[in-house]
Amino acid sequence: MRYFLTGGAGFIGSHLATRLLDRGDEVLVLDDLSTGSMDNIAHLVDRPGFRYRIGSALDLPLVTECVDQCDITFHLAAAVGVRLIVERPVHTIETNVKASEVVLAAAAKKQKLVVIASTSEVYGKSSALPFAEDGDLQLGPTTHSRWAYACSKALDEWLGLAYLREKQVPVIIVRFFNTVGPRQTGRYGMVLPNFANQALAGEPITVYGTGEQQRCFGHVKDAVEALLRLVATPAAVGGVFNIGSDEEVSIRRLAELVRDEAGSDSPIELVPYAEAYAEGFEDMQRRIPDLTRLTRMIDFRPRTPLAEIIRDVVADQRARRAAR
Ligand code: UDP
Repeated sequence: MRYFLTGGAGFIGSHLATRLLDRGDEVLVLDDLSTGSMDNIAHLVDRPGFRYRIGSALDLPLVTECVDQCDITFHLAAAVGVRLIVERPVHTIETNVKASEVVLAAAAKKQKLVVIASTSEVYGKSSALPFAEDGDLQLGPTTHSRWAYACSKALDEWLGLAYLREKQVPVIIVRFFNTVGPRQTGRYGMVLPNFANQALAGEPITVYGTGEQQRCFGHVKDAVEALLRLVATPAAVGGVFNIGSDEEVSIRRLAELVRDEAGSDSPIELVPYAEAYAEGFEDMQRRIPDLTRLTRMIDFRPRTPLAEIIRDVVADQRARRAAR
């Protein structure tokens, strides 16, 4: 099969591309290298079946050409990372909404299957834990840029489902919860690579807020497995699926675990949100996926334990530091 990956030089995309090539599929990556990077796909460029184009997912003729050449599209290109979203809201809104419009319009020509990557952010401030896919979304005011991200991704979901209903484009929506693993960069504010880097450098590990907030971290290899199973399951079309782990950890505890794994004596420093982010910022206290629907649909649940995830991320950051 031939797969088209928008954002294929990003973190999740590059892992998905590797896995597809490993099993003998062909992969075409489109990436504008904004948050993605050639480093992420450098190990793939000489492999048979791999092609890449540097360009924008907003470029309709280019995207149409790519969609036409492939059987299935994973639309992973998006403006990601809380820091980027708060600092560049125009870019976030435009990229996320327009790119999905372009990809879906291209897919509509020949009714090609599209997976739209969404995010657990869409649940917003909901307190209905664990978050189930058909639960209500609870977003904050438009004066806070953070919610622009959630809203733009929610609109992507609506658009995808609208294309299915009105134009018979087979669409699957996936909501990634905190997905982590090798090659993720801390540059855009993601907590685990940040902590790993700080611990390895012997610098203070910066825990925002009280550190009592909790998250569930899922390994990217599990996320990739879930994606592959979903596209191989006809009944998944039209569905919205949480992808992630439901093993919770507080951010303060995460800092301790990372420090231990790195063999570091970095101090753990509490940083008020007002200092950490560019504007008045609301953090989610807890975020747990309900994985019932995913597990029923594909007979798989993300299973990499947190200790192994941390081990992988610390080892990856250590290797990158050594290579610098
Ligand atoms: N966080 C932190 N230190 C950092 C980066 C993030 O304490 O250097 C916190 C952040 O405030 C949030 C959690 O870690 O409570 C997860 O942040 P991330 O940006 O990775 O993902 P989010 O869950 O916010 O989408």
